[in-house]
Amino acid sequence: MRNLFFLLFLITSTFTFAQNVDLSSVDEFFKITDKLKNGEEISDNDWNNFEKSKAYAIFTNKYIIDIAKLSIQNVFGSCNINIDNSNNLLKTLVLANYEEINYNYSSLKTFRDNYDFESLIYNAKSRLQSFLMCELDSSVEWKPVYFLFLNKDGQDRDSAIVIDLNLIYKMTEQQRIDFIAHEFFHVYRSHFENHDFNYANDIYFALDMIANEGIADQIDKYNMDYEQYYSTVIGSQELKDEFINLYENAEKDIEYLQDIIVQYSKNQIDKETCIDKLIEIYKYNGHALGFYMSNQIIMAGLKDEMIKEFYKPYEFYRLYSLALYKNKGISLNDDFLGFLKEATGELD
Ligand SMILES: [Zn+2]
Repeated sequence: MRNLFFLLFLITSTFTFAQNVDLSSVDEFFKITDKLKNGEEISDNDWNNFEKSKAYAIFTNKYIIDIAKLSIQNVFGSCNINIDNSNNLLKTLVLANYEEINYNYSSLKTFRDNYDFESLIYNAKSRLQSFLMCELDSSVEWKPVYFLFLNKDGQDRDSAIVIDLNLIYKMTEQQRIDFIAHEFFHVYRSHFENHDFNYANDIYFALDMIANEGIADQIDKYNMDYEQYYSTVIGSQELKDEFINLYENAEKDIEYLQDIIVQYSKNQIDKETCIDKLIEIYKYNGHALGFYMSNQIIMAGLKDEMIKEFYKPYEFYRLYSLALYKNKGISLNDDFLGFLKEATGELD
């Protein structure tokens, strides 16, 4: 009987261990690219398995999976299918990533087989713990990390964190740890977030997301600017130009954000108009705005306060206003901060 329990324990712990990471999308990708490289036909069943594999199933829709499939055939197959990627950043990024994967094909496969993914997950949680300067709350439910090949990016999705394996492969070990710790920060933060505020409407969601990404970016971009990050870590000229431009406009854009929120709070514009105006400046989940704000907060010596209140958007904007005053002698206005304080329920 005791042996049986021991066996059950072993099975259960192996199962838990294996759930942290999923590489089935990477494996289905390699099955298809191996065949194409050998001049073999890809069956409907192969494509089905590819589409149904864990990371592709939750990360892509019909539009994105078609870009992936077309790019695979283009890069790894013998016939060149013409991909019109003019004005389509995603198509350009996927194609460039697949060309890199093809170039490093055998070493990527060796990496997939030998790399210690479980240690990476463990080290990323430790990194998050040291960033937050406290013991991680043990009641937080972590998500598994699913790997795929698409464009060099990673995202926190409802059921898992999804990350491009070529991105991880190309990074240094410290960059990998920081990148996954950034994604774990989103998972951890969601445990403490004010869901009633965040999901009340798109405006509040965006206001919170700017704070969320702004703090998370200090985990993986703390020692660099966008110029460095997009040239050395991501390796994309297109994204580098885009993000530098957004960062340069961030201070003005935050002022604009403040203006439209105040107008909305005073019923001078309705919700739809406010969202239309918000979309003009809220790009890529508000990353550049948030990163600019957290950098100002850190420059003003307020980093510890920002981290202590990591899940409260009002505190993030209040600290930014304080930082702006310390660094430049200007600040956000009371109408904006007062509205946000009330809407988030962060009243004294
Ligand atoms: Zn993020």
